[in-house]
Amino acid sequence: MALLDRAIVRLLPAVPRPVVQKLSERYIAGASCDDAMRVVRELNAHGKTATIDVLGEEITNAEEARAIADSYTDVLRQIARAQLDATVSVKLTGLGLKLSYDLCRGLVEELVGHAAARGNFVTIDMEDSSTTDDTLRLYRELRTAGRDNVGIVLQASLRRTVADIEAVADLRPNVRLCKGIYLEPDPIAFQDFQAVRGNFVRALGALLDAGCYVGVATHDEWLVDEARRLVSQRGLAPTAYEFQMLLGVRPELGDALVREGHRLRIYVPFGRHWYAYSLRRLQENPKIAGYVAADTLGRLMPGRGDHKLSA
Ligand SMILES: Cc1cc2nc3c(=O)[nH]c(=O)nc-3n(C[C@H](O)[C@H](O)[C@H](O)COP(=O)(O)OP(=O)(O)OC[C@H]3O[C@@H](n4cnc5c(N)ncnc54)[C@H](O)[C@@H]3O)c2cc1C
Repeated sequence: MALLDRAIVRLLPAVPRPVVQKLSERYIAGASCDDAMRVVRELNAHGKTATIDVLGEEITNAEEARAIADSYTDVLRQIARAQLDATVSVKLTGLGLKLSYDLCRGLVEELVGHAAARGNFVTIDMEDSSTTDDTLRLYRELRTAGRDNVGIVLQASLRRTVADIEAVADLRPNVRLCKGIYLEPDPIAFQDFQAVRGNFVRALGALLDAGCYVGVATHDEWLVDEARRLVSQRGLAPTAYEFQMLLGVRPELGDALVREGHRLRIYVPFGRHWYAYSLRRLQENPKIAGYVAADTLGRLMPGRGDHKLSA
């Protein structure tokens, strides 16, 4: 990343909220569940499925965790009512993991039960490495209790991931494989870009060989090519895996995958707490310097800031 880009990324938290909001519009469906339904309907019309994420702030008590669980139950209800092709993705810390494992487990069990009653599916997002053990433990407990409509996420940046795949393979899990967004120290995570890519390919091969349904979650064209190669080497039908991308990121790459006949699921976040998610997405975007500069210019010189954001 160029020096200027890096400087702007560091300064992003100081960028006025309205500018961040405008820049992040393409990453977030909107503030309400209706916004999410509208975006998913549009995606479905273009041959894409979705997984919906309710954006929440850090919770501090059981009532807040319960409120997030209730929002998800409402999302599941709305998906069923609108007959949309979409699942949900949850974060265990939002459902109380750091308050009490048992509280979190209870809320997830309930939610997975609601999803099952509507023929739907819950993916448990993976958060920072302090949550990995508990997340995998909770997943195993759910599956052992007969809950099959639940999936997990594994992060290629973590050194432990291939071992985790071996440990969980007996469950033939539904796994979203991604690079991992959290900054982790060297003993825990690969720091080198190519090493993360290499581990992604190793993990994907191991998951496919274990007969898992994998959501290949990346916008990295090199990895998308590797995934194409691995599934075609194994002669897998397009129903045996899927690609996954974030709303608003590299849509042209997603369109190409759909045209080729691959399944594509789009991660659709919505909610009032859009700010932290927006900063994360913008900090990942190598073109952000240009956007911020153009936006600032547009504000200073009305009529010049009407640029379209393209991934
Ligand atoms: C569906 C989905 C679910 C995810 N769930 C999790 C999770 O549960 N836990 C977790 O830790 N991480 C999750 N992630 C995030 C993931 O770990 C990565 O941080 C993120 O996807 C960027 O990695 P990449 O593989 O796209 O490669 P990168 O090398 O980061 O990106 C490849 C290219 O994609 C484009 N790009 C990437 N990000 C942006 C952006 N914000 N705006 C515009 N262009 C961009 C750029 O052109 C970039 O060069 C998820 C990602 C996806 C797609």
